[in-house]
Parts: sequence; structure tokens; C-alpha cells
Amino acid sequence: MGDPLSAMSTIIDGAQVASGVRDDLGEAIETLADHGVSPGLATVLVGDDPASETYVNMKQRDCEEVGVNGVHVDLDGDASPAELYETIEELNTDPEIHGYLVQDPVPEQIEYGEVIRRISPEKDVDGFHPENVARLVARDARFKPCTPHGIQKLFEAYDIDTEGADVTIVGRSSIVGKPMANLLMQKSVDGNATVTVCHSRTTDLAEKTRRADIVIAACGVTELIDGSMLSVGTTVIDVGISRVEADTEKGYELVGDVDFESASEKASAITPVPGGVGPMTRAMLLYNTVMAASESEGVPVELP
Ligand code: NAD
Repeated sequence: MGDPLSAMSTIIDGAQVASGVRDDLGEAIETLADHGVSPGLATVLVGDDPASETYVNMKQRDCEEVGVNGVHVDLDGDASPAELYETIEELNTDPEIHGYLVQDPVPEQIEYGEVIRRISPEKDVDGFHPENVARLVARDARFKPCTPHGIQKLFEAYDIDTEGADVTIVGRSSIVGKPMANLLMQKSVDGNATVTVCHSRTTDLAEKTRRADIVIAACGVTELIDGSMLSVGTTVIDVGISRVEADTEKGYELVGDVDFESASEKASAITPVPGGVGPMTRAMLLYNTVMAASESEGVPVELP
């Protein structure tokens, strides 16, 4: 028999919360349409990384579902930096594209940091451009990066209060760990947390996760965090997505950074993989696109 506390663990349904965000965005999209504006989102994929292909396909499907004008640009895996920069320049000046992203990872002949610097900050709906990073840190965010923003929306939807909470983030990447830490430490209703950021050189990770009220795992190490590393009542957010070989139709399954079974015996609330953070990341990309369209076209909309 499992721990009786396991029955108390709430499974955070990211797919459902994301669907609510998309519904609410629908109203903003209608307002834009009333003013003759159709928000446009472009995705750029260089090469044929299978996971990246899946991600951009899903992003394009989302666009279709909510009525965002989705455009996809495919470049060969051996495309030169100059070819990609040309595409970026076209997207920067295309009036029908309000936001776009270049899917990471890019092939080794291309330097991702340079790519990001060339994206117009007004269209950088991932929120990765240095200007947008600076604005986030300065509490004047133009676009909140999609994954951390999506996690904040999950907290809101499930009444998980971050005020005064000890939050341990595992991973210090520029797309998840660092912006997440920044948002949560800010003096704001969806921040006000005390944040510890762990990484590959952290010693005694379990001590840092055990003393947390909220653990956010974003390191891409399959099932690094298990129940023994958590205290009872912890909220567990699993950002990790790894493809592991499995006897399924696709030949793989998606696994997070958290061992769901043992962690859910301790957690008060926990996100599954898939169906937790992933759908929120995609929903917040649409959110940022609608916001970009509203800003650049001067049509105010109400955002969820
Ligand atoms: P990254 O590779 O850029 O960074 C990983 C971070 O984890 C690094 O800061 C590293 O120091 C840390 N790390 C690695 N091993 C560690 C260990 N043993 N202990 C502690 N820290 C360790 O990764 P990323 O881009 O932030 O992505 C992390 C994971 O999240 C990946 O699985 C990625 O696929 C997934 N991801 C999911 C979403 C989503 O929407 N669900 C979005 C972005 C990334």
C-alpha cells in the first residue's frame, strides 16, 4: 500500500489550463480582427531535428486552432548563418508577422546567441533578446519567456501562493531557470518567493530540494528528482522533457526530470510529463504573439 498522503496529491492539468488561456485569447483575437488585424507568428527551423520538428508542428497547430496566422520557414541543416540572417531580416520587416522564433537547437555552424541578437526585440515572442532579458530583470517585461510565464499561470490556476515560499529551481538555463528565478524573486503578487537556483555544479542537491515548498525541475536529466529528495507537501513542477526509447508506436516516450510515482507520494501538487508545463509553454507563445500584435498595431486588447 502506498503512503496515505499520496491520495492528496493534486495532478496539475496543464492541458486544461492552457485550453482556458487559448479560449481567453480568442476574445483578444476577435477584438484585433474587428480592427482588421490578424496576429502573425512565424517559426523558423534550421535542419530536421525530430523533436524540434514536433515542437514547431505543435506551435503551428495551436496557431490554426486559435486563429493566429501561422507561417513556417524551413531551412536546410547546412544553411549558412547569412541565409538564416536573411530570413530573420525578412521577418523583422514583414508587417504581417508580429512575432517569431528560431527553434533551438540550431546546427553548429550557427551561433544561437547571434541569431537572438538579430531578432527585432518587438517580435521576440520567446523573450530571449538581451533587451527583453534586461527589461524582465528590471521588472518592465515586454514578453515574459513562455515556460516561466506558463508556470506562473499554473500557480495562479491552482492557487499556489509563491509569496514567502522557498522555491528551489534545478537548472540555470536562459530559457527556463534564470527567467523563472527572476520572476519569482520579484516584488509582485506572482513573485515574492525566496529562490535557490541549482545547477550541474551544485553540491547536495537533495538538501536544497528537501527544504523547498516548491521545486521546479528544468535540467533535462531523466528522473533526477525522486520522492526521497522531497518533503511532504511540496509543489513539484517538472519542466524536463526527454525522449527515451520505449515499446510504443513512436518508439519512444517522453520522460521528465522527476520520478512521478515516488514524487507524487510526497507532493501536494505535481505536474505530469507530458500534459503539465509543455502545453502552457505553447499557450504563452500565443499570448505573447497576441500581445505583440496588439502593441505594434496600436489596438488595445484584454489579455488573460
Ligand atoms: P539546458 O540544457 O539549457 O540547461 C540545463 C540546466 O540543468 C543547466 O543549467 C545545468 O547546469 C543543469 N543541470 C544539468 N545536470 C544537472 C544535475 N545533475 N543537477 C543539477 N542541475 C543540472 O536545458 P533547458 O533548455 O533549460 O531545458 C531543460 C529541460 O527542460 C529539457 O529537458 C528541455 O527539453 C525541457 N524544456 C521543456 C519545456 C517545456 O515547455 N516543458 C521548455 C523548455 C525546456
